[in-house]
Amino acid sequence: MSNIISIIVPCYNEEDAIPCFYDAITDQSKNMKTKYDIDFEYIFIDDGSRDNTLNIIKSYADHDNRVKYISFSRNFGKEAAMYAGLEYAIGDYIAIMDADLQDPPYMLSSMYESIVKDGCDCAATRRVTRKGEPPVRSFFARCFYKLINKISNADIVDGARDYRLMTRQMVDAIIDMKEYNRFSKGIFGWVGFKTKWLEFENTERVAGETKWSFRKLFLYSLDGIIAFSTMPLAIASVIGMLFCIMAFILILIMISKTLIFGDPVAGYPSLVCIIFLVSGIQTFCVGIVGQYLAKTYLETKKRPIYIVRESNKGGNTK
Ligand code: UDP
Ligand code: MG
Repeated sequence: MSNIISIIVPCYNEEDAIPCFYDAITDQSKNMKTKYDIDFEYIFIDDGSRDNTLNIIKSYADHDNRVKYISFSRNFGKEAAMYAGLEYAIGDYIAIMDADLQDPPYMLSSMYESIVKDGCDCAATRRVTRKGEPPVRSFFARCFYKLINKISNADIVDGARDYRLMTRQMVDAIIDMKEYNRFSKGIFGWVGFKTKWLEFENTERVAGETKWSFRKLFLYSLDGIIAFSTMPLAIASVIGMLFCIMAFILILIMISKTLIFGDPVAGYPSLVCIIFLVSGIQTFCVGIVGQYLAKTYLETKKRPIYIVRESNKGGNTK
């Protein structure tokens, strides 16, 4: 029997994009079947869409038995959708792709060759341009990648997409990471394995619009930092220590000044400023601790990462 590639496609309100995606991926599958004799399965994850996404997927599933679907009970986010896909996939090689064709299907051939011929465990993709993206967003994205690579030991590549083809072995390692606060870009790097990076120019969505608002992206980047670095906690303690030392020196200066000059009460405004500054910094540091505590709290609840409402597939774990 020939090998199988599983394509995982998280979909959230993608009714306009799915038909284009389906046509493009079936074309690519046909090419790869003749070239490498490899079969495909497509796992569409309907992440609680409010439009016709699920019905469209079902209509494809009716006449194409390669089409599998999992529909969530509500919107759980792309991370949860990808995790569900990885758990359900039965392929020897597993790819994750967006439904909007921003991840070019033609690259699957070179990705497959990287794994089979070059002996890599994973062929990942990276956008070399951020064309078509608002400049402010690109700026903050760049800052985020610089920062997180400095303060964490997970290798997180700037411009890396979630679009990648992985071996079964690597996917099993990822499935073993059952954390609730998922940040896949970090998880992929953390599990290691030999990864080859393929580059491509950014393309715009075929239909629909991006599901990521600036606010969502900002919160996601905080998740990433908290999930893969404890550096902010160390920074909070260092700031606390510095302020203690400063306060100690100031006290010494005050005492000697009073003893020498008998200084009356003076400098009330400066005192107010200092109180404000110090209490601000304290609250900020407590906030950092609070963020970690909140994440720990959520992890300890051990809630499921996603809940399935319906599916046409048994999967290998469920
Ligand atoms: N997506 C999802 N759940 C969400 C948000 C997005 O499954 O809550 C899917 C979406 O349907 C798409 C992919 O994740 O297939 C990437 O989303 P999008 O294209 O909006 O992100 P961008 O390419 O702009 O980063
Ligand atoms: Mg997109």
